[in-house]
Amino acid sequence: MDRVAHPGRGRPRPHRHHCTEESYSVKVQIDPQRCHGHGRCYDLAPGLFSEDDEGYGQVAGDSAVPPDQEHVARLAVSNCPERAIDLVEEA
Ligand code: SF4
Repeated sequence: MDRVAHPGRGRPRPHRHHCTEESYSVKVQIDPQRCHGHGRCYDLAPGLFSEDDEGYGQVAGDSAVPPDQEHVARLAVSNCPERAIDLVEEA
């Protein structure tokens, strides 16, 4: 007797995850009420932050974090003594 074929059995299933790099973005923001101008953000991540005329941190550019800068963005968040930096993740 012939064995019944089971197409697809044992094969990996197609990947159906919809969160692609194009639809996922990370932005940084600084709460000016909390920032005391310690400068760690723009020392650690000069591509994402800069300083204003009085030394307070400000977001550089359009606040979007390129994928290859995400680790330094998180470093800046964890090193801000005032917890003034937030990462906003949008899917
Ligand atoms: S590290 Fe924090 S407190 Fe210091 S300048 Fe940057 S945002 Fe402001």
